Amino acid sequence: MSECTHDCSSCQSSDCSSRKSSPQDFLKPMNKYSKIKKVIGVVSGKGGVGKSLVACMLASKCAQAGLKVGVLDADVTGPSVPKSFGVTERAMQDGECLLPSVAENGVKIMSINLLLEDVNSPVVWRGPVISGVIEQFWTDVRWGELDYLFVDMPPGTGDVALTVFQSLPVDGIIIVSTPQDLVKMIVNKAYNMADMMHVPVLGLVENMSYYICPHCDEKISIFGESQIDETAKELGLPVIAKLPINPQINQLVDKGRIFDVECDEFDEFISALKGE
Ligand code: ADP
Ligand code: MG
Repeated sequence: MSECTHDCSSCQSSDCSSRKSSPQDFLKPMNKYSKIKKVIGVVSGKGGVGKSLVACMLASKCAQAGLKVGVLDADVTGPSVPKSFGVTERAMQDGECLLPSVAENGVKIMSINLLLEDVNSPVVWRGPVISGVIEQFWTDVRWGELDYLFVDMPPGTGDVALTVFQSLPVDGIIIVSTPQDLVKMIVNKAYNMADMMHVPVLGLVENMSYYICPHCDEKISIFGESQIDETAKELGLPVIAKLPINPQINQLVDKGRIFDVECDEFDEFISALKGE
């Protein structure tokens, strides 16, 4: 055997102990009943910024545009997807696979909250158990044919997020943030994680970007001036949308009708997903 040059990309040797494993070496196979064209992860550097909202709204807007879509709720300790879609029945299985629940607008959903006997019980499991559940949501769910599967990723850049990147063939991610001082650092962390995992970042979404006063129509920057354009420029990424604070959202989420939220901010992105 020739001497190791430590350049795995140009070396043919398969039994070299120095060979670096690529992130894709850990990918889990999908079951034979599912055919998913693209997997898009929705990530955020921290919780509470609207990651689930963006994942669920994007899925709903895609469904409205005629695409077949699903949402995999990988935020196992803070699952909120079924409630947003008004899905309360527990998921069924057919002996071989778990069956996703289907929301009123046709979006398929799998979440730990569809499997727990009591949705109010906290999920106090350690990282590897949570990671195993997410893997099963990929390998054991009969998703059928989907154009897009949106993954509501675990918040942050910890080991569970890493598992999702390693075990699911994520085609691209969307990073969600809110306007605040830390935004650059938080977005950079998520960006660097995706880069390490060789997953492209499709763009940034700034949520709670501004509020339109219902009395005078003034645009108010409640959480501070937006820095998203600057951050996006530095990273060479597009800004997919800037979403306003919209009191209608909480009411509709509480009613389980997230798909009724009026929002045209994603129209251009959805057209791109449709290949228009
Ligand atoms: P995350 O998944 O990042 O933890 P969520 O999507 O659950 O965050 O959003 C946190 C809370 O803020 C939810 O109650 C959600 O309904 C609300 N929310 C998110 N975005 C907006 C918005 N643009 N306007 C009003 N409420 C919002
Ligand atoms: Mg969430």
